[in-house]
Amino acid sequence: MICYLGLGANVGERQRTLRRAIERVKNLPNVKLLRVSSFYETQPWGVIDQPNFINAAAKISTELELLDLLDELQRIESDLGRVRRQRWGPRTIDIDILLIDGVEISSERLNVPHPLLWERDFALVPLMEICPTLDVKLNGDKISRVMGSPIDYGFKLVACVDKNFGLGFNGRLLFKIPDDLKNFRRLTLGHTVIFGRRTLSTLPNAQPLAGRKNIVISRTLKNFSGAQVVGSIEELFGVLDAADSNFVIGGAEIFGELIPYAAEIFLTVVDAEAEADAFFPDVGEFVLRGAEIFDGFEFRRYTR
Ligand code: ATP
Ligand code: MG
Ligand code: MG
Repeated sequence: MICYLGLGANVGERQRTLRRAIERVKNLPNVKLLRVSSFYETQPWGVIDQPNFINAAAKISTELELLDLLDELQRIESDLGRVRRQRWGPRTIDIDILLIDGVEISSERLNVPHPLLWERDFALVPLMEICPTLDVKLNGDKISRVMGSPIDYGFKLVACVDKNFGLGFNGRLLFKIPDDLKNFRRLTLGHTVIFGRRTLSTLPNAQPLAGRKNIVISRTLKNFSGAQVVGSIEELFGVLDAADSNFVIGGAEIFGELIPYAAEIFLTVVDAEAEADAFFPDVGEFVLRGAEIFDGFEFRRYTR
């Protein structure tokens, strides 16, 4: 089931709360976060005497029952400090179900599509960004894009895989192809590379990559000479430069964490089938934009 969520915040650190809410949605069991919109600053709607909002939309696929999904979203709202005092009043976070592909429901606890969606540019503008096929007429409200969405870091994922998108086996990469290593170097040199602790041990001499800013994501590692260590995705956002190219280089878990926010994927696909226990995530939301074919492998580039 494909489902579009609308998120809004107008109390506290709005962007940070939205990012935390999105991460929480991403980590729900039986939910896959597919795509996130930019963040937009919007004027209050309904009750206008309150601070401006930041709004965003997210696309998920889920196997959850609808009311279980609503329960999970409401739990995230309350964990992040949502208190219901006044209808349409100030809130640290609101997460609404805007649309579900092929579903219409009106019940006591749930109405989908959200009945006020078409009245609300603050919900429509982010939604249109991640659902370009949606045919809507906007109401002309003042809305401006602001920084702070996880997509603003422009993550580029780089990997070398076999025909089955296998990445590695027993903690080691499947392939070591000189042309691929050259291409990797050409892409990443002078930029930021982001990777997990286990990927660190696959790098030459298990050392950070020279000529690049190295960021390791690890819950256990405290520091590592030549690299910056962050303990979580939220902490990662705090140290990244949105103006730089931020290359995500592995492993499978980190690719899975960051693919919903990624802008671009560079895959070297080797014309072979290898035994693998780690795989690149599904690229379903991405479109193949180009392939350079060589003897035994090809370079592929995907974007949204
Ligand atoms: P609005 O729904 O007009 O945006 P709101 O988001 O501020 O207002 P909440 O206090 O978050 O309202 O939710 C009130 C109730 O709305 C929830 O307890 C939930 O049962 C119900 N509800 C009905 N349809 C939806 C939906 N599509 N998404 C989220 N909640 C919904
Ligand atoms: Mg709402
Ligand atoms: Mg709500």
